[in-house]
Amino acid sequence: MTGTGRYDYIIAGAGCAGLSLAMHMIHSGKFREKKVLIVDRDHKEKNDRTWCFWEENPGLFESIVYKRWNNAWFHNEDFSRLISLSPYEYKLIRGKDFYDYCFKHIRQASNFDFQLGEIKGIYNRNDNAVLMLDDKEVLASYIFNSILFDKPDLNRKEYYLLQHFKGWVIETDKPSFNPDEAILMDFRVDQKEGTTFVYVMPFSKTKALVEYTVFSERLSEPVRYEEGLNEYISQILKIGSYQIVENEFGVIPMTNHRFPLSNGNIINIGTAGGQTKPSSGYTFRFIQKHSAAIIEKLAAGENPVIRTTKGRFRFYDTVLLNILYNQTLPGKKIFSSLFKKNKPQQLLRFLDNESSFAEELKIISSLPAWPFFKAALKQL
Ligand SMILES: Cc1cc2nc3c(=O)[nH]c(=O)nc-3n(C[C@H](O)[C@H](O)[C@H](O)COP(=O)(O)OP(=O)(O)OC[C@H]3O[C@@H](n4cnc5c(N)ncnc54)[C@H](O)[C@@H]3O)c2cc1C
Repeated sequence: MTGTGRYDYIIAGAGCAGLSLAMHMIHSGKFREKKVLIVDRDHKEKNDRTWCFWEENPGLFESIVYKRWNNAWFHNEDFSRLISLSPYEYKLIRGKDFYDYCFKHIRQASNFDFQLGEIKGIYNRNDNAVLMLDDKEVLASYIFNSILFDKPDLNRKEYYLLQHFKGWVIETDKPSFNPDEAILMDFRVDQKEGTTFVYVMPFSKTKALVEYTVFSERLSEPVRYEEGLNEYISQILKIGSYQIVENEFGVIPMTNHRFPLSNGNIINIGTAGGQTKPSSGYTFRFIQKHSAAIIEKLAAGENPVIRTTKGRFRFYDTVLLNILYNQTLPGKKIFSSLFKKNKPQQLLRFLDNESSFAEELKIISSLPAWPFFKAALKQL
């Protein structure tokens, strides 16, 4: 076993959380004296995902936003609502653009190294955090870890659902989309496999990302996603002829499991650090907020363990997850009530864990009372 030196910080995983943390570090300008190593098993050259999120102000990745929308639809069989998102914008960033952009900046920062390799383990020894990289140990003051080595062992009252989805970028011959209006959630699809909806992100009149999404305990048969996409495109979007130019498949854990924030000098980030919102799967914005908070603490010379989610938001997520998991109320009905009866801006703040308690009371009162009351009692 050979050592490869000691770093101030190691970032384990060059995905969304690892690269976001690196970019926040570089952007702050306060870490030029620190030696930082980023490690991943992958070169990150594929366009393996797209990130959608809403944001009020320009973020650190503003220049690579591929498309943005000010208006978005919610649909189910009984009602449709076009939501004006202002002051928020719904933004989409392509994975490949994100990776290229971050690595361009990282290459220019002489205090950053990147190493390709398999991370076999991460542990503490004396005052060091140790990364087992292939067959070598690398030491650091802190390791920021975004690797979820195993599915966590669940405690009582913890649920683990999967948000699984297949998306196609399609191109049509005739104008078929309004590029100014995204479709956030369309529940006019079969609900047999679990809470199921489609979202549509139009890039132009003839090109859009159409994503078929299911919340359930298990993945569906591969053919099911394709049938769902085909049915939606032909029956709801009424598009007869199109070409699939790109596709993506993804799984996001939706769980109220408490991922450990840290272990000694190892700080967990990203999905592995509990930054995926249990009831929605949204992660990108939570990662940005978490990265900014870590950087602030590090720059102040403080311990960078951040308790990001306030207890009451964790409780709301848990109650909603309990209902989705036990199917005491269809997800379609819950999201329909939320979008039908609430001001969109308040709802987005709520989903961002940034609402006031008064706003939360209003939002909660828009939901069917009895199933939520029962689930809340069970979780208490
Ligand atoms: C297809 C897809 C679409 C998504 N869309 C959205 C969205 O629209 N909006 C949103 O908010 N969230 C979305 N998410 C959820 C979330 O934002 C992403 O999963 C995000 O990438 C999580 O960031 P992360 O850094 O925790 O994990 P990752 O980005 O997966 O990064 C982990 C990194 O660790 C590396 N790695 C893993 N194991 C090892 C090992 N043993 N050794 C070395 N390297 C290793 C991987 O190669 C990877 O680069 C999506 C997720 C997926 C899968």
